[in-house]
Amino acid sequence: MSDDLPPREAMEFDVVIVGGGPSGLAAAIRLKQLAPDAAVCLVEKGSEIGAHILSGAVLEPRALNELLPDWHEKGAPLETPASDDRFLYLTATRAFRLPTPPQMHNQGNFIVSLGNVCRWLGQQAELLGVEIYPGFAAAELLEENGRIVGVATGDMGIGKDGRHTDGFQRGMELRARYTLFAEGCRGSLSKRLIQRFGLRDGSDPQTYAIGIKELWEIPGANHKPGLVEHTIGWPLDARTYGGSFLYHFGSNLISYGFVIGLDYRNPWLSPFDEMQRFKTHPVIRRHFAGGRRIAYGARALNEGGLQSIPGLVFPGGALIGDAAGFVNVPKIKGTHTSMKSGMLAAEAVAEALAAGATAELSAYPEKLRGSWVWNELASVRNIRPSFARFGLYGGLTYSALDTYLLRGRAPWTLHHPHRDNETLLDAQAAPRIDYPRPDGVLSFDRLSSVFISNTNHEENQPPHLRLAKPSVAIDVNWARYRSPEARYCPAGVYEIVGAEEGQPQLQINAQNCVHCKTCDIKDPTQNIDWVTPEGGGGPNYPGGM
Ligand SMILES: Cc1cc2nc3c(=O)[nH]c(=O)nc-3n(C[C@H](O)[C@H](O)[C@H](O)COP(=O)(O)OP(=O)(O)OC[C@H]3O[C@@H](n4cnc5c(N)ncnc54)[C@H](O)[C@@H]3O)c2cc1C
Ligand code: SF4
Repeated sequence: MSDDLPPREAMEFDVVIVGGGPSGLAAAIRLKQLAPDAAVCLVEKGSEIGAHILSGAVLEPRALNELLPDWHEKGAPLETPASDDRFLYLTATRAFRLPTPPQMHNQGNFIVSLGNVCRWLGQQAELLGVEIYPGFAAAELLEENGRIVGVATGDMGIGKDGRHTDGFQRGMELRARYTLFAEGCRGSLSKRLIQRFGLRDGSDPQTYAIGIKELWEIPGANHKPGLVEHTIGWPLDARTYGGSFLYHFGSNLISYGFVIGLDYRNPWLSPFDEMQRFKTHPVIRRHFAGGRRIAYGARALNEGGLQSIPGLVFPGGALIGDAAGFVNVPKIKGTHTSMKSGMLAAEAVAEALAAGATAELSAYPEKLRGSWVWNELASVRNIRPSFARFGLYGGLTYSALDTYLLRGRAPWTLHHPHRDNETLLDAQAAPRIDYPRPDGVLSFDRLSSVFISNTNHEENQPPHLRLAKPSVAIDVNWARYRSPEARYCPAGVYEIVGAEEGQPQLQINAQNCVHCKTCDIKDPTQNIDWVTPEGGGGPNYPGGM
């Protein structure tokens, strides 16, 4: 790359927020409510707010009620109340209804398109005067004298070979007194901040899952608006954590997704193919009868819970939402907790701005510890690690004891026994899994799936999936695990070519990437680093997702 870069232009704000998901937008709105004169800027790497948002989603409106109590009058897209909860255990041919655990009761909640909720939150933020810049990825941290003073957006118009193209445009410096990082699960700058400021010292490793989702339109006669169904069991074995969600909402829509803990051990496992074959179960396929798949996407989510919350503040800023990790795993919900964390960080920032202070935002973690978010996460903290330790049946038994007998007040804390990248067995020590071929009606292949995620990247740009050491792809990943990235990537980005000729090589189809971040998490030696591609690249999830 050319060294003689022109200087970047800079813009000054009181607060810069990186990421326009629920946490970033809630923070922006709360800030302008408390400090109307503050200059607040929010950057979002998707082409528009909502373009990269992928979630279930059943929304618990607790944080929204606190943020915008008149959301109903303001036209928030919360249209389908959750009305019927079902929790099923599946064998290969049958389904058994289990008692719905208390955390999974959804009375008072709404089935939503989280993308649409974010689009609406974005409008509310703009009405309050927040400057929102979609299509701009924050690519670099700006640090001066040990303090984060903002971010720089990525340069545009750099070719694959590192040379400037005709469209070259230098990124912008967005400088601020405080910068809030709301990048969601495994944020690329958040990862650097956690390393730079040692924010994980004293907490458990973060653990993750991959969630793969489809949106279906089905005949009205089969649609049961308000139905919330979750399953465990088939097709996963008892050592693999995961299950499905299936929500009927809107105009004849079904939001269907499958979530698999990224601590899975079998390198032959393909989360995408598990998701596809799940739909063929005799009890499940009925939901999709006569329907049409209209959208597809994938995203990682945090599962570490309370034990894995890193240090939240550093000089000049804070981590909010899933960038830190506030998902309540037994509830399968993180939107309300993410929003609340953004609101509390905004309160701490507003206080600091009013006092003319530039000190660390220590009021934010204090507020969080005194909030319902902390109580909620504390009461379920042992549930996810119990599955990692005891498997499905032991985990279910432990969770029932923890929930019903101890009521979430166990005098111990179970820690996460491993990092997700450390759990794979060698390929030859693990059973191969044969997945059925997709039929093109109920089940599909990766490429036709990526097609309906509307993913688009400028082709002539340096790869945004960087291998620290390219030889590791074959010497370790292929040799030991038969290249698990070719199976866990839900978008067919990683392909092994030349294996039949005895010369396997890794081909990276970066333009297919749906920004789920799974490779950054699961790669056994952490050789893959996901960095932001040119702003606006990535999926373009439609309304409904
Ligand atoms: C499959 C699945 C199902 C789920 N189901 C539910 C559910 O039913 N109910 C529920 O409450 N929660 C659910 N969750 C969790 C919920 O979606 C998250 O907790 C929530 O979205 C977190 O909000 P966030 O704002 O912190 O992050 P995100 O929603 O991930 O938003 C982050 C935003 O930041 C942007 N961004 C990231 N990096 C940059 C950068 N460097 N520069 C600019 N922009 C950037 C992203 O494009 C994105 O728009 C689910 C999650 C998944 C994956
Ligand atoms: S390349 Fe990585 S981040 Fe992109 S879709 Fe595949 S696993 Fe997800």
